[in-house]
Amino acid sequence: MTTTTDRLAAVRQRIAAAAKEAGRDPASVTLVAVSKTHGADRVRELLQAGQRIFGENRVQEAEGKFPALKAEYPDLELHLIGPLQTNKAREAVALFDVIQSVDRERLAAALAKEMARAGRHPRCYIQVNTGEEAQKAGVAPADVDAFVAACRDTYKLPVVGLMCIPPVDEEPALHFALLAKMAARNGLTSVSMGMSADYETAVKLGATHVRVGTALFGERGS
Ligand SMILES: *Cc1c(COP(=O)(O)O)cnc(C)c1O
Repeated sequence: MTTTTDRLAAVRQRIAAAAKEAGRDPASVTLVAVSKTHGADRVRELLQAGQRIFGENRVQEAEGKFPALKAEYPDLELHLIGPLQTNKAREAVALFDVIQSVDRERLAAALAKEMARAGRHPRCYIQVNTGEEAQKAGVAPADVDAFVAACRDTYKLPVVGLMCIPPVDEEPALHFALLAKMAARNGLTSVSMGMSADYETAVKLGATHVRVGTALFGERGS
């Protein structure tokens, strides 16, 4: 039987191998374990195996399981990787250490206001809609530089990186290469890209953070 601990070791090994193949230091790649839909007991299995960085895509779901886990493991780091409504900015700033889905001015303004009020400053990534898909969140590639500048200069957000979710039916490598290039051009050091199906490709193309759910936890909803 394959345990969560075995899966974690296997994913880490594949990340390290991909990094080495690309001439990168394996320590320059951070694994974000995406625990959405999985209960706190499953998260705890990974915590016991040494994993500390987790990703959730819904504020409310994360509020249901992570406050207790964070009390148990004070070095746990929680990333918001899903769309954020402006009326949830307060909850998001209170709970998350990193917000990877900043994608519009109204949200940037709401986050800035809430960070000032709460005195808590989660690091921010700008989500880029590299495939320019109508149904998908994210800033269009042509608007990235101006939006990064607005987040930094107008809203004073602690912007550290870019994030993307490529279209499911396209070769992800092109999207990953584009995201890495846009990050470098804007002086951003963090690049969040790659999921269970393509994280090794992402590492080879410069991902500093890969977001892996299924390969660690198994299929969702089973
Ligand atoms: C669910 C999700 C992931 C993880 O996907 P897997 O294919 O299960 O690894 C990564 N990023 C985002 C934004 C997600 O919503």
